[in-house]
Amino acid sequence: MKVIKFGGSSLASAEQLKKVLNIVKSDSTRRFVVVSAPGKRHSEDTKVTDALIKYYKHYITDYNFSEDQDWIINRYQSITDELGLRPAILEEIAGAIKDLATLPKEDNAFLYDTFLAAGEDNNAKLIAEYFRTEGLNARYIHPKEAGLIVTSEPGNARILPSSYDKLEELRESDEILVIPGFFGVTVDNHICTFSRGGSDITGSIIAAGVKADLYENFTDVDGIFAAHPGVVDKPHSIKELTYREMRELAYAGFSVLHDEALIPAYRGQIPLVIKNTNNPDHPGTRIVLEPSSSATPVVGISGDNDFVSINMSKYLMNREVGFGRKVLQILEELNIRFEHMPTGIDDMSIIVRGRELTPIKEQEIISQLTRKLEVDEVSIERNLSILMIVGENMKSKIGVTATATKALSEAGINLMMISQGASELSVMFVVRTEDEKTAVRALYDAFFE
Ligand code: ASP
Repeated sequence: MKVIKFGGSSLASAEQLKKVLNIVKSDSTRRFVVVSAPGKRHSEDTKVTDALIKYYKHYITDYNFSEDQDWIINRYQSITDELGLRPAILEEIAGAIKDLATLPKEDNAFLYDTFLAAGEDNNAKLIAEYFRTEGLNARYIHPKEAGLIVTSEPGNARILPSSYDKLEELRESDEILVIPGFFGVTVDNHICTFSRGGSDITGSIIAAGVKADLYENFTDVDGIFAAHPGVVDKPHSIKELTYREMRELAYAGFSVLHDEALIPAYRGQIPLVIKNTNNPDHPGTRIVLEPSSSATPVVGISGDNDFVSINMSKYLMNREVGFGRKVLQILEELNIRFEHMPTGIDDMSIIVRGRELTPIKEQEIISQLTRKLEVDEVSIERNLSILMIVGENMKSKIGVTATATKALSEAGINLMMISQGASELSVMFVVRTEDEKTAVRALYDAFFE
C-alpha cells in the first residue's frame, strides 16, 4: 500500500493532472493521494497559496479583494473547464473561496491559516472529482475526518501523536482517498497549517499513520541530485540515500523535500521515494533506513551560503572553566541559534546564519565579549559558505577527507575551517562564498567523475 504525494507544479494545470491520473491509475496500490495547491505553470506564474496570502491581506485591511477572489477561482476554473468536469464542482470551489471573506477578523488566530489551507483543500476536492469522472473509486477526505489533529500553533502546526491510531483506520477504506496537504485541525476545530511547503509533511504523516509500504513524493525533478544542478553541469541523481544522509544534505541547501517531512516517515520506518511527475519511469531517489554496503562513501555534496563566523581569541582560553558556556549564553540571551563551533586552543569561532545576526546584535556580541569575557580579539567574518560531503559509508574509510582537501587545494581554494562529527556522516568545510561554486565543482569531480 502506497501513499503518494504530488507537489504544486505537478498539479498546476489540466495537462499536469492528466499525468497525475495516469500515475495513480498505473498502480492499484496507490491508495492515498496527498495534494498541494496548484503551483506555478511557468516561472513568472503565481502559486495559488501566494494568491491566497494576497487575498487575506486585502481582506483584513478592508481593501477591495474581489480581483483576488476572481483570480483564484479562475485558476481552478481553467483546470475544471479543460478537464470537462461538471459545473457543480467549480461552484463548490468558488463558494468556498468567497466564504473565506465572511470569517471573523477579530480574535481569530487561525484566519490566515484558514485562507492558506483553502488552496490544497479545494484542489483535493477538484482532483477527487476528476478521478471519479475518469472511473476511479476516489473520495476527497478532510483532515478532520481523516483524524489529522495538530497542535494549536498557527503556521507551524505539529501532529499530535494521538492522531496516529485514528489515521490507521484509513487502511480499511477501499476507496482512493484524496487528502489535502499542508494543514490539520486542532482539538478545538481550527484549521492550522504546517510551515510553508508543508504538504510533504502531510504525506509523511499519512504514510506513517496507515503504515504504508512506501511514501512516494512526486515533484518535478528526477529525484535528488548529488550536487546542485545550478552549480554542477548535469549532476547524476542519487539512486538511494539514507534518512540521515538526507537530513545532512538538506541542512546545507538541498531543498527537494521539506525538512520536517522526514521525521514521521523515518519514525514509522517507511521508505520514501522522490520521483518526477513529468518522467515517471525514472526510478528517482529512494530514501531508506540503512545504507547499502555497495553505496559509495560520499553520496552527495552540498553547499550553502550566508554564514557568519564570530571569531574570538583569548590567551589561556583553554584553562578558563565556563568560558564556552558564557559565550553561548550571550547568544542565547540575544535569541541567536548557532550552527557550528570550531575551536583552537586559545580561539573559538561560532558560526551562525547571516540572517540571525542583525547589526544591533552584532554590536552587542562584540561589546559583551570584550567587556564581560575580556577576550583579546574579536572579529566578525561575513560572506562565508559551508560545503558538506555526506555519506554513511565514509565511516572508518581512510582517505575521504584527503581526496576532498586535495581537490580543493588543486582548485586554489583556501579552507578556513574543517569539522567532522563523531558519526563520520559528513565533513564540513568553510570557504569564502566567492569560492563556493568552484569548490563544489572540484569536489563533485573528485568523488564522481
Ligand atoms: N501550498 C503550500 C505552500 O505553497 C504547501 C505546499 O505546497 O506544500 O507552501
